[in-house]
Amino acid sequence: MTQEKWGQLRQRLLKTVGQNNYTTWIEPLEFADLKDGVAVFNVPTNFMGNYVGQNFADLILYELNTAGTKVQRVAFRVAANTPARPTPRVVASESDSAPEAAGRHDALQAAPLDARFTFDTFVVGKPNELAHAAARRVSEGGPVTFNPLVLYGGVGLGKTHLMHAIAWELRARKPDLNVLYLSAEQFMYRFVQALRERKMMDFKELFRSVDVLMVDDVQFIAGKDSTQEEFFHTFNALVDQNKQIIISADRAPGEIKDLEDRVKSRLQCGLVVDLHPTDYELRLGILQTKVQQYRGSYPGLEIADGVLEFLAQRISTNVRVLEGALTRLFAFASLVGREIDMELTQDCLADVLRASERKITIEEIQRKVSEYYNIRLSDIIGPKRLRSFARPRQVAMYLSKQLTSRSLPEIGRRFGGRDHTTVMHGVKRIEELKSTDGQIAEDVEMLRRTLEA
Ligand code: ADP
Ligand code: MG
Repeated sequence: MTQEKWGQLRQRLLKTVGQNNYTTWIEPLEFADLKDGVAVFNVPTNFMGNYVGQNFADLILYELNTAGTKVQRVAFRVAANTPARPTPRVVASESDSAPEAAGRHDALQAAPLDARFTFDTFVVGKPNELAHAAARRVSEGGPVTFNPLVLYGGVGLGKTHLMHAIAWELRARKPDLNVLYLSAEQFMYRFVQALRERKMMDFKELFRSVDVLMVDDVQFIAGKDSTQEEFFHTFNALVDQNKQIIISADRAPGEIKDLEDRVKSRLQCGLVVDLHPTDYELRLGILQTKVQQYRGSYPGLEIADGVLEFLAQRISTNVRVLEGALTRLFAFASLVGREIDMELTQDCLADVLRASERKITIEEIQRKVSEYYNIRLSDIIGPKRLRSFARPRQVAMYLSKQLTSRSLPEIGRRFGGRDHTTVMHGVKRIEELKSTDGQIAEDVEMLRRTLEA
């Protein structure tokens, strides 16, 4: 491929990703090399390489192939002397450059917002309805009622999507508000940069002048003491001024290792809501919505009955994987000009399907449950009827029913040869307790998370 061809391709990418994303992520890419089916691009920083790799690699790959360049993979490397950038500034600060230099109102826009992450494109289901409702409320920009709002949940469940949606909505409704969205990683970079350049005053002023502060993936600052300290002060200063703070994390604040207690308790003061793992209905809903969106760019694309249901059933890890699968399917189908049927799906997604095949076993459940309740594995399986064994045993039975495809008699056999009615009773009991006993509900949820992780 020639530089010129890359130049043309970039223009097509501009159409797909929008000006904002383009300027920040695509334009700085410098085509370096194409060898053995790998297209290599120079990027100014590792961070940028990772980001582009995660978010745009599929798209770039698709455009390259559509344009007739046979490429299997794209790679990004940090070139020693990428000329495009005047300073080796961290990417996070690139779009806004130094505030005093830019001198524009949107100087605070630390991280670009993804145009696709709006409330319109967010599919609501049981697992995320609470988080969605809380996000909606905050996005109205009314009086601050809970501070901070903490959204937590596993990877790919929509935390970033919801945060961007809040930011978009606030911008539309309250254009005068200073809304600052950035990842905890970017917060740290800016902090370190301010230290290095002796601009701490500016840094503090900047962060204390925002009306809404959104920090994504706050678990990143765990164990990074001075960053945590600064974060804590920023946080307090904003809360004192009654400014809204929105935080996301990959687990509940209390469970983030190496996060200072005072930061934890600050986070827990607000409204903490979690995004649960997706269920089948939500996954199907998301797939259907995405198909609608794709239809615009791939007219005439046909999907056979049952394909979406199959994907929703089989890919239960996270939404990002689900989306990636769909993108790949569409790209592949349009390349070969075929309808998306089961056969094509199986061919095209063999690796994804294999990877998500990991089955949870009853043994695994029993082991995790006994660890969790700090009892011996033999006590879970054995005959003792002590309450302190019986309850964990029922939890394990319940999880076995929920997370494996084993029948009740089979489960009974694995629990020391118990009768299937005993298992049924145990499952029922936990179902009841889940709605009346908060502790049990929490235990079950925690265990499910660790098992599905
Ligand atoms: P997280 O930040 O929790 O790791 P993201 O917000 O980045 O996850 O979501 C991963 C991908 O899945 C994004 O492309 C996002 O748009 C999509 N996604 C997640 N949840 C939903 C949902 N409920 N509706 C539509 N898309 C979703
Ligand atoms: Mg995220």
